[in-house]
Amino acid sequence: MTTKSTTTEATNTSTPERIAIAGAGLLGRLLAWQLNQAGIDVTLFEAGSFTITNPQSNRAAAFTAAGMVAPLSEAVVSDAGVYRMGQFALGHWPQWVKQLIDTSACSPNDELFFNKGSLVVAHPQDTAELEQFERELKFVIPECRHYQRVTQSQIHELEPDLSQHFQHGLFLEEEGHLHNRRFLHQLGEAILHSNIHLREHSQVSVSPGKVSFDGISENFDLVIDCRGIGAKPQLKQLRGVRGETLHVQTTEIQLQRPVRLMHPRYQLYVVPKPDNFFVIGATQIESEDRSPVTLQSSLELSSALYTLSPAFAEARIIEMDSNLRPAFMDNLPKVTVANGLITANGLFRHGYLLAPAVVENILAHVLQRGEPVFSDILNRH
Ligand SMILES: Cc1cc2nc3c(=O)[nH]c(=O)nc-3n(C[C@H](O)[C@H](O)[C@H](O)COP(=O)(O)OP(=O)(O)OC[C@H]3O[C@@H](n4cnc5c(N)ncnc54)[C@H](O)[C@@H]3O)c2cc1C
Repeated sequence: MTTKSTTTEATNTSTPERIAIAGAGLLGRLLAWQLNQAGIDVTLFEAGSFTITNPQSNRAAAFTAAGMVAPLSEAVVSDAGVYRMGQFALGHWPQWVKQLIDTSACSPNDELFFNKGSLVVAHPQDTAELEQFERELKFVIPECRHYQRVTQSQIHELEPDLSQHFQHGLFLEEEGHLHNRRFLHQLGEAILHSNIHLREHSQVSVSPGKVSFDGISENFDLVIDCRGIGAKPQLKQLRGVRGETLHVQTTEIQLQRPVRLMHPRYQLYVVPKPDNFFVIGATQIESEDRSPVTLQSSLELSSALYTLSPAFAEARIIEMDSNLRPAFMDNLPKVTVANGLITANGLFRHGYLLAPAVVENILAHVLQRGEPVFSDILNRH
């Protein structure tokens, strides 16, 4: 059977029956799951290991990510389009989490998505950084009302363990965060228990209607390329942007929501995870070096963490992780729809923030579910 050849043609052709997805990171897993739920025969190819008993064995940036869904904070470093897609994500993630719980063996008690906002703070000597953040926020989204300045007593109400160190902050009430590794694990379980054909340890190349591995090519009605930075050999405009994180564990401090520390030299975020874990991030370095975290980065992240709260002093460093964010020159995601091949890439530092927009855009193209969302941004040439 034939697949659609362009966005316009898509409405006139029938839905593909056999779809291959290359890459089982964030986009690949979400698309495989959604297309399978829509009754499509899906084959999912992954270069590394599919399960995450050892997070280092899967090189998807999705496992390194902190899982923040932060439209306001990310708008400050991008643009209003990212903000709009991020707002869409805040409505979408709870629906996906509910769908996953309703349709899989996933326990309803496993909390995956949190809508508790985020807090931005600066030490008194760095107040100018906080003020600049607010000015940039107003500049990018002049109409934004979803944040408020908070005083020490309000910080105490939000995060009692932080209040003694900070007199001013911004509460970005519209932001959320995911327990992303847990979500990816649950989604992985749903995929393993579905009739999706899973091919791990398969580093593939793709072309319209065709996936090739180890000198053998297989034909499909449609191929969706979700290989992140792994697509670089075929997408020359793509670049990797190195990011490093620390994972620490402590019972000395509790946080309800992501906290960002504004600092003149290094900016830091801390995202609470289950079992008293915290993800500390992240460096952003224009380098495609995937080697382990450097001493300098670990010093910067850990000393900034200590200045956020000395209660982190006794935290145990459980893991250090580094990975590449896949980015185009404009740091915006792109979905290219061509004959037999859809390419989705460039989610940069906004994977969880933008995945709902990107996935729904692709589903609309493939399943002919009305106008693709955000096509002005995602399907640009
Ligand atoms: C340090 C850090 C922190 C981040 N924090 C956040 C955050 O808080 N919030 C947020 O929204 N985003 C965050 N991100 C960004 C987010 O992780 C990425 O944007 C997102 O993971 C990109 O999704 P993807 O599916 O395109 O690629 P990936 O998640 O990288 O998945 C690509 C998959 O393709 C596989 N693959 C590669 N090549 C091949 C091949 N040839 N054949 C088969 N399979 C292949 C890979 O093994 C991988 O599994 C962060 C990223 C980093 C590095």
